[in-house]
Amino acid sequence: MTSKPLPEWFRPACQEVEAAFAAGRLTHGILIHEDPGAGGLEFARWIAQRVNCKDANRAPCGECQDCQWIAADQHPDVHRLSPEEDSQYILTEAVRELIAELSLTSHGRGYKVAVFSPADTLYPNAAHSLLKTLEEPAARTLLLLVTSQPSRLLATVRSRCARLRLKGPSHQEAARYLEAARGPGPWDEALAATGAGPFALLDTDPAALAKLRNDTLNTIGDIGSGKIQPPGVAERWADRTNAKDLPVRLACLEIWVTDRIRESASIRDVTHLSGEGRPPNICRLFELSDAIRDMRKLSLTSINKAMAVESLLWRWARS
Ligand SMILES: [Zn+2]
Repeated sequence: MTSKPLPEWFRPACQEVEAAFAAGRLTHGILIHEDPGAGGLEFARWIAQRVNCKDANRAPCGECQDCQWIAADQHPDVHRLSPEEDSQYILTEAVRELIAELSLTSHGRGYKVAVFSPADTLYPNAAHSLLKTLEEPAARTLLLLVTSQPSRLLATVRSRCARLRLKGPSHQEAARYLEAARGPGPWDEALAATGAGPFALLDTDPAALAKLRNDTLNTIGDIGSGKIQPPGVAERWADRTNAKDLPVRLACLEIWVTDRIRESASIRDVTHLSGEGRPPNICRLFELSDAIRDMRKLSLTSINKAMAVESLLWRWARS
């Protein structure tokens, strides 16, 4: 396996880890607060490589056996916990097993590392089980908690971790990174479709995302001008055979409404328009934005999606 180049936007966070490690004050618990899709899990692998690499002069070298095992998620001392496929949570039992594993001596002479990703999916009891390990960790043990929503972690867990911020790249930098990693594609539009960073798009089809975004924006344009009505659209968007499309459509809508709020605010400052050019009522746009955000959370549950989408689209038709 060849080593991947380090994303440029990792550098400030890498430097913080370097400085702490060199000074011997790397804390046992680190909360990696990433922007969505910024690559928090990859950054956690980088830390695991940094502390376990055999080449002290250029760690992480990316080439020694430890570095390669970590890159392939196969290192005997580096463990990752994520929700099982059929669950939304990291379960207590899995955490307890991992804690038992961490208390054993490491296979090599390096660090034992546990990565929780995303850490906000730790079931509350599972998070409680972690507290003791965070307070009294075995020597050369690192717990890395990756999340884009630190407020969803237990306060007691948060307070026992050092926080490391991993900011996402600019839109252009993200598109360049994806092009280098995956080859050419409409990455600009694909990024605009989800609003997330490049790591969220590594396994996606950019052309399909771009197409979905265009369709979504055209459709709401047509609803806004009265050309089509919400019920038929809601039925199509909520169709089970396209279940994966709905979250992307909602993300597109949220970004689009946020842009209109911004536009609307700046137009209001400059002039008073009437008739066709009149900006939509900004309060209604904020309401719409809140409704989309609620719907994005609910779209993961078993609500009647067609009804919920229809009521959302009526809001837009009347705004
Ligand atoms: Zn190495």
